[in-house]
Amino acid sequence: GSAQIGVIGMAVMGSNLARNFANHGYRTAIYNRTWAKTEAVAKDHPEANFIASEDLGEFVDSLEKPRRIVIMVKAGAGTDATIDALIPLLEPGDIVVDGGNAFFQDTRRREEKLRAHDLHFVGAGISGGETGALEGPSIMPGGSPHSYEYVGKMLEDISAKVDGPNGEEPCCTYIGTDGAGHFVKMVHNGIEYADMQFIGEAYDLLKGAGLSAAEAADVFAQWNTGDLDSYLIEITSEVLRQTDAETGKPLVDVIVDAAGMKGTGTWTVQEALNLGVPAAAIAEAVFARAASSSPELRKAAEAALTGPDGVVEVEDRAAFVEDVRQALWASKVIAYAQGLHLIKVAAKDYGWDIDVAAVARIWRAGCIIRAKLLDRIANEYAAGNLETLLEAPSIASGLAESNPAWRRVVAKATLAGVPIPGFSSALSYYDLVRAPRTNAALTQGLRDFFGSHTYRRVDKEGTFHTVWSGDRSEVNAEDTH
Ligand code: NDP
Repeated sequence: GSAQIGVIGMAVMGSNLARNFANHGYRTAIYNRTWAKTEAVAKDHPEANFIASEDLGEFVDSLEKPRRIVIMVKAGAGTDATIDALIPLLEPGDIVVDGGNAFFQDTRRREEKLRAHDLHFVGAGISGGETGALEGPSIMPGGSPHSYEYVGKMLEDISAKVDGPNGEEPCCTYIGTDGAGHFVKMVHNGIEYADMQFIGEAYDLLKGAGLSAAEAADVFAQWNTGDLDSYLIEITSEVLRQTDAETGKPLVDVIVDAAGMKGTGTWTVQEALNLGVPAAAIAEAVFARAASSSPELRKAAEAALTGPDGVVEVEDRAAFVEDVRQALWASKVIAYAQGLHLIKVAAKDYGWDIDVAAVARIWRAGCIIRAKLLDRIANEYAAGNLETLLEAPSIASGLAESNPAWRRVVAKATLAGVPIPGFSSALSYYDLVRAPRTNAALTQGLRDFFGSHTYRRVDKEGTFHTVWSGDRSEVNAEDTH
């Protein structure tokens, strides 16, 4: 065979990725379960000079050895079916890359399965949507370091590029073994959910203070020139500026207020719960989408409940807008801190050697959460081994500066009845993790009362229990068992 890379799956993502490889000078083979799609892609893009095969065996034969194959099919059963069809056709040393949105535990299972056949499996998280796939996505590959030697350069070539101190840097780096890449992609999406929730809350507050959608669009465009500079802020301004052709109203006012989701945000929160990592701001974003898509709940509650109507009393509009900007920035930092902490804990648990600074670096372009803030985050993680992003000097001082504005916004929103589950949860996390002592002491006392769950003391070693049902004296718990 003469093709350097093969792509399976000729829907929008796979065909764009194949064109991206071809644009970078790689001879590219393409295959799709349904031949008509492969045929159409080859016909529509003669410049790519694809080697198109109708038969999977022919496709495999068209590749140089060791073969490099990227699967870009429907995640889940589609990926398993494709892998099962490939295994008997491949030879030891061949490398299979799954670029779909796989759940990382599936990736771990698949990696183990292919390893048993002496095949290499790379679970590569890919972010950037269809444009990214064609023009340069952010790529998060996990798998054996050996397999990265074979496909790393190609993936780096087709990835997004960002200007760094050492010139152009690819938004693709080796993440870690087995499911590490898909785990990091999952957390990327969790942070994306939180980012979008915060943006929604900021817009609600601006609206509550009397700004029209077009005025809010101007505010977001302005914010995009500073610390908040990011893809999501940029497109928020575009969406808010859009006028509906049919009604003449702002488009945002005619879109049904029910947000969909495809599962990666939920996975992030489930994994945070499994690992015992507090990621409440991300969870609030997932729950807010769930609430938005619960019409029965909302209908019943709207009919029964009263409260302020979301109008925010503002004396100085410019000052309030600046407060909201700072609350948005601070909350965003918290979501990144929670997501990166989740990655750190998971790495320990699953045995991945993940360089968090490198993760932040490859998120700087190509992906949905690309943001100026990631430069600072990458530098801070590179400078020292951080337990949490929040301890990084420039981050801590930024949060200290934003503190008064952040608190004013949460207080104002609460008094005005503007729902801000993201902002308030992020602020509570800030206060919770910095507190020298928390209410968990009382919780532990209650647990000891009703369940003899024992407690430790601040002033001496050991485990203790108070005899609540008797004379309420304290006993050394070890002695009672
Ligand atoms: P789809 O998720 O719509 O999947 C369609 C493709 O999967 C077709 O090529 C289809 O073949 C193939 N397929 C489905 N079931 C099977 C099966 N049982 N056996 C073999 N092939 C099957 O395509 P997309 O291009 O939208 O997405 C591809 C992957 O990329 C998905 O995992 C998706 O989650 C991910 N994705 C990532 C995005 C990102 O921004 N990173 C954005 C969108 C998707 P056929 O033509 O024969 O039906």
